[in-house]
Amino acid sequence: MAVRPNSPAAKDIAYVLHPYTNARRHEETGPMIIGRGEGVHVYDDQGKEYIEGLAGLWSVAVGFGEQRLVDAAAKQMQQLPYYHSFAHKSHEPSILLAEKLLEIAPRDFSKVFFTNSGSEANDTVIKLLWFYNNAKGRPEKKKFISRIKAYHGITLASASLTGLPANQKGFDLPLDRFVHTACPHHYRFAWEGESEEEFASRLAGQLEDLILREGPETIAAFIGEPVMGAGGVIVPPRTYWEKVQKVLRKYDILLVADEVINGFGRTGNLWACQTYDIKPDVLVTSKQLTSSYMPLAAIMITDEIYQGVADYTKELGTFGHGYTTSAHPVATAVGLENIKIIEERKLIEHAAAVAPRFQEGLRRFADHPLVGEVRGVGLIAAVELVSDKKSKAGFEPVGSVGLHLFERCQEHGLILRNLGDAIAFCPPLIISEQEIDQLLERFGQALDDTLQWVQSRAAA
Ligand code: PMP
Repeated sequence: MAVRPNSPAAKDIAYVLHPYTNARRHEETGPMIIGRGEGVHVYDDQGKEYIEGLAGLWSVAVGFGEQRLVDAAAKQMQQLPYYHSFAHKSHEPSILLAEKLLEIAPRDFSKVFFTNSGSEANDTVIKLLWFYNNAKGRPEKKKFISRIKAYHGITLASASLTGLPANQKGFDLPLDRFVHTACPHHYRFAWEGESEEEFASRLAGQLEDLILREGPETIAAFIGEPVMGAGGVIVPPRTYWEKVQKVLRKYDILLVADEVINGFGRTGNLWACQTYDIKPDVLVTSKQLTSSYMPLAAIMITDEIYQGVADYTKELGTFGHGYTTSAHPVATAVGLENIKIIEERKLIEHAAAVAPRFQEGLRRFADHPLVGEVRGVGLIAAVELVSDKKSKAGFEPVGSVGLHLFERCQEHGLILRNLGDAIAFCPPLIISEQEIDQLLERFGQALDDTLQWVQSRAAA
């Protein structure tokens, strides 16, 4: 469709450089402009309705148009729109939110540090643990291990943790001190006939080999998303986390759980650490923490880490790290109200209750000629497309069929996210069974359209 001169779309093309967008393609297509949202739905500037099947960017837990969050933000804006937390200053919303997070955390943490985004949070974790290891008199213990296909952000250091080519190629990344181990995707990387448990043992063995090669005394931490998100919604094979934690304990390596997507009910429990019996030393949360109505992330640390850091600030004079808008009063007030809504409306329990309908509904597509794997847990899932089910071969060029499916979904009124030739689902926690059925129906139509397109492309 041609873009009308001087329209908002034309101005967008003229003035905006978009994140995660092919800039040349954007010059031709222009943007999809979203005007408003209500519940699980958003509406574009033409008034067309869509089910937001990815909750924005895996984040709008309570749905769009939640008046209580609007009111919480407005009230805080009036009372104190901004204050910082440098140099012993504080304000009530950040104090109350820190208290609340520690109360609902999956283990006994001691302190909370607030940032504006998940990337900033993971950058902060790296600096915090470097600082901690310097404090402990082991300045060589600085490397971070993450996984191929991990997503931990896009700042220089967090993009170095990330294990996706798109975030590193062209950016001269990763930096030194960041090493990657294998991705726990059984469907793609297990040997023929290898059980999930055997695959998990093999990966834990590879992790141990990597640690020994690098030298355990050089490794500060292992960071992982309990369920990998942007790398393709990869659910860990059975016993994976148990075996990984055993290796980390053996070599005195800290564990950072990146629950930026997983936290607040996504996997059926409040925290994915509960779903997979993970005991992290550091936990990072964001996105659903405020339903992304305001930018906010939080890092929780154990008392052992806090004590080391605190001692060192005494020696150095300060913890020289923080953002102008760390623990922003409006963001933390919205976070508090968001958690209140999640608790009062029992949204975690609701998500767990409707999850079987969602997961079983999606698994009905496993027989579709284009589908290689349907995977997921709770209210997060992915459908991976293949050109040949037996060999699991993908499509050429990679991502072309995923993109087509994504576009057909939008035609049918469903917004999802294409990750190569997989397509990801992560609807708002409030989604009803009826809305799940609608989402599945729209997806099925788009999948059938895509099959026709693939067949006509092969015939041409
Ligand atoms: N960690 C994970 C697991 C994420 O999914 C994301 C964002 N998708 C980030 C970190 C980075 O968060 P942000 O985009 O807020 O910087």
